[in-house]
Amino acid sequence: MGLTTQQMIKWIQKANETIQENKAYLSDLDQAIGDGDHGFNMARGFEETAKKLSEGSYNEPADVLKDCSMTLISKVGGASGPLYGTAFLKMALALKGKEEIDYRSLSEAITAAADGIKQRGKAAEQEKTMIDVWSPVAYYMETQNEMDTEGFLRTAKQAMDRTKDMKAAKGRASYLRERSIGHLDPGSVSSYYVLSTLAQIIDEEEVSL
Ligand code: ADP
Ligand code: MG
Repeated sequence: MGLTTQQMIKWIQKANETIQENKAYLSDLDQAIGDGDHGFNMARGFEETAKKLSEGSYNEPADVLKDCSMTLISKVGGASGPLYGTAFLKMALALKGKEEIDYRSLSEAITAAADGIKQRGKAAEQEKTMIDVWSPVAYYMETQNEMDTEGFLRTAKQAMDRTKDMKAAKGRASYLRERSIGHLDPGSVSSYYVLSTLAQIIDEEEVSL
């Protein structure tokens, strides 16, 4: 048994709830080292995405992720829109044709998402961007043979926290150079929400991967 289409929808709905709850916090983080719109951008994009998913009918998990991608690209302003859009598109492509998603496929999908963000953002690790959450989580999954949600959550949280000490080399925060140090990267915090809600759904639904 693996993750089903319905569980994919539940994941995105949970991600949306968490983002709505933390909208002001995400914007505050972006206010410190960017232009203060990240909470608004994410809240708008995920609200529209959750709405779209509640109205649509989907044959397989990849179709859900593809719809997320399209909605995020069209509704999220700012740099994060195309980056999240790419992440979801790459996951959809990696999972195409699978009725249910097993551990290895999920791991490959997260790696594809991380690679997609790197390509699209022309960025690498340690540049204080959302990549610094997606990549460590992808590496962690690659080293495991089954889903360990605790380890997954710990990895994602530590990765997010580590962005605080990094100096931004990409995106708006890079204009601040050294002054970006000491603040969490907003996109890494929203990525933590997106990935941690996946682990939460796996736990809640008692999916054994
Ligand atoms: P904008 O920077 O256009 O205002 P957002 O505030 O919505 O867009 O998103 C900012 C986040 O996007 C940053 O915190 C960072 O994680 C991510 N980001 C910005 N530029 C890049 C890039 N080139 N590669 C990867 N992630 C990036
Ligand atoms: Mg911004």
